[in-house]
Amino acid sequence: MKTWLVTIQQQLSRQLRDNKLPHALLFSGVEGAGQEEIAQWLINVLLCQNVKLNHVSGEGNSNEVEHNNSSDLKQAPFILEPCGQCKTCKLFAKNSYPDHLTIISDKKNIGVELIRDLSYFFEKTAHIGFMKTALVNQADTMTISAANALLKTLEEPTTNSFIILTTHNSDLLLPTIISRCHEFEIRPPVGKALLAEFGQQGDDPFVNLSHLTELSNEETAVAFVAFRDKVNQYLTSFEYREDILKTLTEYQYGYRWLEKVIVNLMRNQYTWPTVVGENKHVAAINKQQLWDIYNLLLQANAKLKTVVQVNKQFLSEKLLADISLVVQNNAQTVEE
Ligand SMILES: [Zn+2]
Repeated sequence: MKTWLVTIQQQLSRQLRDNKLPHALLFSGVEGAGQEEIAQWLINVLLCQNVKLNHVSGEGNSNEVEHNNSSDLKQAPFILEPCGQCKTCKLFAKNSYPDHLTIISDKKNIGVELIRDLSYFFEKTAHIGFMKTALVNQADTMTISAANALLKTLEEPTTNSFIILTTHNSDLLLPTIISRCHEFEIRPPVGKALLAEFGQQGDDPFVNLSHLTELSNEETAVAFVAFRDKVNQYLTSFEYREDILKTLTEYQYGYRWLEKVIVNLMRNQYTWPTVVGENKHVAAINKQQLWDIYNLLLQANAKLKTVVQVNKQFLSEKLLADISLVVQNNAQTVEE
């Protein structure tokens, strides 16, 4: 569990023990902050038949002790942990616990049918335990009608049922949904504290929360470096167009990655410190061009976020064509 989640775990553990856990919870924060992680933990604790109580010592380490009623221990911070051994835990680990439902959408949005399934799920009695839980990840991707359907369920909670939503775009959630949930906004540390969290020294002075995905996943980090090198190559010799296009079109982080590469190039042009080893090859592009490319990217990004039926393939092809025009303009100026 990420260290910055521990305080939220303690808070939720206390609410749970005191029977004060809200029926609807929303975990928000930047992408990679740990929304899904804490949601999984909470649901597992809610469902487990043999929850353990771990007291947390001052240094942030947890020591398992026997639960007793002495007043000292009642005040001390603690974290509830699922046993991992009971029937419920085992079924939950295999995603086959019948009294829990995770809403998974195979499309871009969570449609109303899925939320109707959720309402129906809560109407039925529990199969095994007496507790029922549902998880809606990326709740901001619900369509308007799905969100309205969920509102009804949130307004009329059935007993012993818990709905947990996660989002990394709470701006896109209907305010009426947010107001009916108890929101926990997760705020990870930034800068060196963030790097330390992942055991990395690092020399990126601009490291921030938008890097979380790459920091916490080696495979993603490697993929980013490969993408960055290809973009740099494209800006000098128009190579790797197909690869870059594929990343932009098919990969969820494609546009953010491109933005990161361009912003780093801009920093380099303004001789701001950048990560060692980046930007060696792209000396031929000037500040104005980078600025133009950055603006093209912002426009494309805005279309992605605001136009409902946007054709990402077409948008990305156009973006790359426009970028190459900006780059070629400079080549002509140099030749003249
Ligand atoms: Zn268990």
